[in-house]
Amino acid sequence: MEEYPLTVPSRSAVRVRVPAKINLHLGVGPLRDDKFHDLATVFHAVSLHDELTLEPGPPGVRLILDAAAAEPPADRNPVDDNPVDGVSTDGVPTDERNLAVRALHALAAAAKVEPAVTVRLRKGIPVAGGMAGGSADAAAALLAGDALWNLATPIERLHALAAGLGSDVPFALHGGDALGTGRGERLAPLSHPYRRHWVLAVAGEGLSTPAVYAETDRLRGADASASDPTAVVKALDDPDPTALAEALCNDLQAAALSLRPELADVLAAGRTAGALGGIVSGSGPTCAFLAADAAHAERIAQQLRNAAVPGVSAVLIAHGPVEGARLTVED
Ligand code: ATP
Repeated sequence: MEEYPLTVPSRSAVRVRVPAKINLHLGVGPLRDDKFHDLATVFHAVSLHDELTLEPGPPGVRLILDAAAAEPPADRNPVDDNPVDGVSTDGVPTDERNLAVRALHALAAAAKVEPAVTVRLRKGIPVAGGMAGGSADAAAALLAGDALWNLATPIERLHALAAGLGSDVPFALHGGDALGTGRGERLAPLSHPYRRHWVLAVAGEGLSTPAVYAETDRLRGADASASDPTAVVKALDDPDPTALAEALCNDLQAAALSLRPELADVLAAGRTAGALGGIVSGSGPTCAFLAADAAHAERIAQQLRNAAVPGVSAVLIAHGPVEGARLTVED
């Protein structure tokens, strides 16, 4: 049996806040031999956050879904930020299937530390919503575990561990705006001079990411090439959000609409409410609508709430880009 050195944590609690993402462009290329698709995507981190708090605990990794009130960050803007307890935690596993638990085991094994930790997870990112909430929690767990166990893991090593856990995990560490290639794990930062304002129509029932990719292959053939992200990359440097609205593109959208036809009504409702543009976020079913500014986002959100579109369980407001996973508390 492998011997682990005894590690005495010098911290008694570590909290990490991690954002959701939307894909401003999601170009899906051919199915690879390893069953992943080649992607050309523009990730955009938005101000819906999950929060992970780690404390020393009994041997192993124990995860608790936390509904108790956490202190809001001092700089929270009530107009364009949402409470971290804004979404249902239905469907979030608390065992080894949870990506945060997997991440802590992977980090502990790499560092040869015996994990003995209790994780409290607060979800503010819609579950199975195409906003990479599970991936975000994995990134947060890597950062929090690193701090709790005093590992000082080099960022390249954390990035490699993140990529091993899932295609969207490295971006959740990174945040901001980034071009993702490979299966999304190879990141190149993009300039992001302008704040964008979003309205997010969250569905009550999630969509399975593998099912949406499979439907994409069925609709277009498995060897279709990825659409080109250049227009979105250019639009990021344009202060006029209309340019970005016109460039938004998601190669998974047709499949998400095929599996969930009522999403067409959600997208139409966003346009009727005055959004500059709208798109299915990642594999869906969350729909993201671009607004001209914060007040415009408020008006769109209110109109969408009043419209009570079937299948929409919540309408949230967010802005982006925001920073990636960050420590917020260390004791
Ligand atoms: P993807 O990153 O594949 O686009 P998504 O954003 O659509 O995923 P997630 O919120 O990550 O969706 O959840 C997808 C599934 O992952 C959930 O239905 C749940 O079973 C599982 N899961 C594992 N860990 C977590 C977690 N920490 N939070 C939420 N879901 C998780």
